Amino acid sequence: MGSVVVCGGSMIGLLAAAMLADDGFDVTVLEADPDPPPPTPVDAWDTWRRGVPQFRQPHNLFPRFRDVADAELPGLADALRAAGMFTENMLANMPPSINDRSSRPGDERFTYPTGRRPVIEAVVAAYVEQRPRVDVRRGVKATGLLAATDTVDGVPHVTGVRCADGSELRADLVIDAMGRRTPAAEWLQALGARPPEVQSEDSGFIYYTKFFAGPEMPPYMSGPLMPAESFSVLTLRGDNDTWSVTLFTATGDPALKSFRDTDVFDRVMRACPLQAHWLDGTPITDVLPMAGVLDRYRRFVVDGAPVATGFAAVGDSWACTNPSAGRGLSVGAVHAQALRETVRDHLDEPRRFALAWDAVTEERVAPFYRNQIADDRARVADMLAVRDGLEPPARSPQSLAFQVAMMSDPDVFRAALEMASCLAFPQDVLTRPLIRERVAQVTVPEAPVQLPMPRRSELLELIS
Ligand SMILES: Cc1cc2nc3c(=O)[nH]c(=O)nc-3n(C[C@H](O)[C@H](O)[C@H](O)COP(=O)(O)OP(=O)(O)OC[C@H]3O[C@@H](n4cnc5c(N)ncnc54)[C@H](O)[C@@H]3O)c2cc1C
Repeated sequence: MGSVVVCGGSMIGLLAAAMLADDGFDVTVLEADPDPPPPTPVDAWDTWRRGVPQFRQPHNLFPRFRDVADAELPGLADALRAAGMFTENMLANMPPSINDRSSRPGDERFTYPTGRRPVIEAVVAAYVEQRPRVDVRRGVKATGLLAATDTVDGVPHVTGVRCADGSELRADLVIDAMGRRTPAAEWLQALGARPPEVQSEDSGFIYYTKFFAGPEMPPYMSGPLMPAESFSVLTLRGDNDTWSVTLFTATGDPALKSFRDTDVFDRVMRACPLQAHWLDGTPITDVLPMAGVLDRYRRFVVDGAPVATGFAAVGDSWACTNPSAGRGLSVGAVHAQALRETVRDHLDEPRRFALAWDAVTEERVAPFYRNQIADDRARVADMLAVRDGLEPPARSPQSLAFQVAMMSDPDVFRAALEMASCLAFPQDVLTRPLIRERVAQVTVPEAPVQLPMPRRSELLELIS
């Protein structure tokens, strides 16, 4: 077979490395961070990569991640469970208003292991690094790309990577898995490549999270993500009897910045009757804030031609969104799976590979990005309207009807879970005849249903 260099040895770089090594490639992973994962994954929470901001933010794995793991990475889901991941079953959150609670064929697709990011990643690292064909070099920073001296139609062909220590590595394919701050586009341009197409915006959310531990995992009395006018609550179960509670708001709502204060955070959570019990554990962190999370998408085929060959961006380095839907790892895993297929089919023909990689990326993962951007813009607009004392923008009648139907119809509820968990795109689910028919049958109440959450005026009193 051939050789591959993966720049970036976090979750998606490691998953891609394992898949390609299992196909017979010799894979070298360069990871700038020198810290090795601890031998016992649960210790990763306290000791590993403490400087990486998103490492100690809430992470959820979702059924689609498990789905890819089952298909491509035998034993990974078991290794995650063995390290103490919580086995979540999304159907357990079926609203009480759904009367038909009988199981359906395929319900097992909604089950998945999940946990805290450092612990998940420590399991993945151990799983990947045991492979003889994978060489993970920690503490080695990639600083640029190498190219062939000849270009075809002015398109540079990447042949390797330059490292900070001056060493050079040659490969048949260079994978960029350097995450949302990747410098790879500039490196390609330094080789004479045209710039990729870039879309970028700040989604405008700010997150405040506290982690807890305790003998009893809190039960769900609502879905994990609950909107409340100008803020949302996200509650996630983790590994080894831990869980996280997140409040997030629009960055343009400075009055709510005091969520950062532990007392304010707790007061607001206590005022949410369906989630207050998630505070009933031992806090294992203070309130951890995170803002400035850019949404960014890059496309490396411009006007029908690749900007470079011998190169593929995967995971967050290709596109990243704000994390309110918790999909980055699941989407990245789908992307790594698509990369494996593209490499199998096309690596021998660089131009065809680049075009096929672009096409499969657009087909299988770009819709997740676009849907997320649309959802986020709508949610931020809601939050800011409430801040300004205005009515939130009206939702489409179809969207309102779907929201009503999913609270009473078991099949529409499952359809909603498929969309939330990245098992299917909304555009596919919503056009299924059964779902269309069921949604068309519901009557949407004239006044919106008021969720049991503090209203804006109560919220401002709570934080004052
Ligand atoms: C607040 C927050 C909450 C989130 N919650 C969720 C969630 O619930 N569920 C979910 O699925 N996703 C979530 N995400 C998104 C998720 O974290 C990302 O999608 C995921 O980390 C992407 O993985 P990656 O491997 O592509 O990139 P990264 O995790 O960013 O890894 C990139 C790696 O590249 C290395 N690197 C960078 N430059 C170099 C270089 N020059 N040379 C060598 N190595 C380099 C870095 O050290 C790093 O290890 C969240 C993100 C944030 C910010």
